[in-house]
Amino acid sequence: MTGRVIVVGSVNVDLVVSGERLPAQGETVTGGRFGRHHGGKGGNQAVAAARLGARTRFVGAVGDDPFGEEARAALAAEGIDLDGLVTLDGQANGVALILVDARGENLISVAGGANLALTPAHVRAGLERARPGPGDVVLVGHEIPTACVREALAVAAGAGATTVLNPAPAGGLDRSTFGMADVATPNRGELATLVAAEARRVGRPATGADQAERAARTLLDANAEGPGVRQAVIVTLGATGAVLVPAGAATIDLPAPRVDAVDTVGAGDALNGALAAGLASGQSLEDAARRAVLAAALATTRPGAREGMPTTVELDAFEATLRT
Ligand code: ADP
Repeated sequence: MTGRVIVVGSVNVDLVVSGERLPAQGETVTGGRFGRHHGGKGGNQAVAAARLGARTRFVGAVGDDPFGEEARAALAAEGIDLDGLVTLDGQANGVALILVDARGENLISVAGGANLALTPAHVRAGLERARPGPGDVVLVGHEIPTACVREALAVAAGAGATTVLNPAPAGGLDRSTFGMADVATPNRGELATLVAAEARRVGRPATGADQAERAARTLLDANAEGPGVRQAVIVTLGATGAVLVPAGAATIDLPAPRVDAVDTVGAGDALNGALAAGLASGQSLEDAARRAVLAAALATTRPGAREGMPTTVELDAFEATLRT
């Protein structure tokens, strides 16, 4: 019996206007095209894991408005168990307002809504009902209050589940959270934020963000603030792929295949969901991370963050083309 993936995180509705150019401050630009998409890193990661065959649950919050109902229905349609998804009275659903220009540059403003009203008590109740145990993977993101992230990791680690922390956004996270994670998955910018904040606090010289491996190792090593990430840091590096930096062992490069990327939004979510699905199915960290890099690369070849998440059949076919 393989384990489950339990995602604790955010769910948003993305309202997107695509136009020729982005407005300047105070300016109105007309002629855009409107689209509505389901988003939120947590929701996207859960969909990525579910499409790759993992039994997936989601713990989080939607608003008691029409967007909240739609967000819930969209996750349910992917076969995700929503026993731990609460609808919060009087709260609006999380919304991201996104403007995109003809070159793909964007402006994004997020109203966290119900995601930010989630409490540690909701998280604990949702996780306790899910009864995570050894073999299960609990994947936690940071578009919910930091106290909820900490609670999720504490409950999951206490139950013997594998814990993965996607430190996005990275501001406000320290060892009291990532010290409970078996694996952390920052992108380059998030890694720089985590390491710089810690360097300021413990009086260590800052490590350049260009030195991903060295920076990752500072998060693995214990310091005056406590133990670091327990097993490994996976740093995602966009089109380059990722590096897997395991505690006490050599760094492993995980190059991304060259693809015609059309939409890289949600690539990190694809990687995290696929990583969790692989670990839950019993793969080694290296094997799961390698396949997650492929899943993320494939996701960039299709429009839409959540829509672009590949299924097992699609990922297997993609992997086969890379071998020939
Ligand atoms: P985020 O989406 O969180 O900013 P990255 O940009 O590092 O994170 O992308 C996450 C992963 O998605 C990368 O590790 C890589 O596997 C894949 N990826 C992103 N952009 C591309 C690209 N242009 N070509 C191939 N793979 C990509």
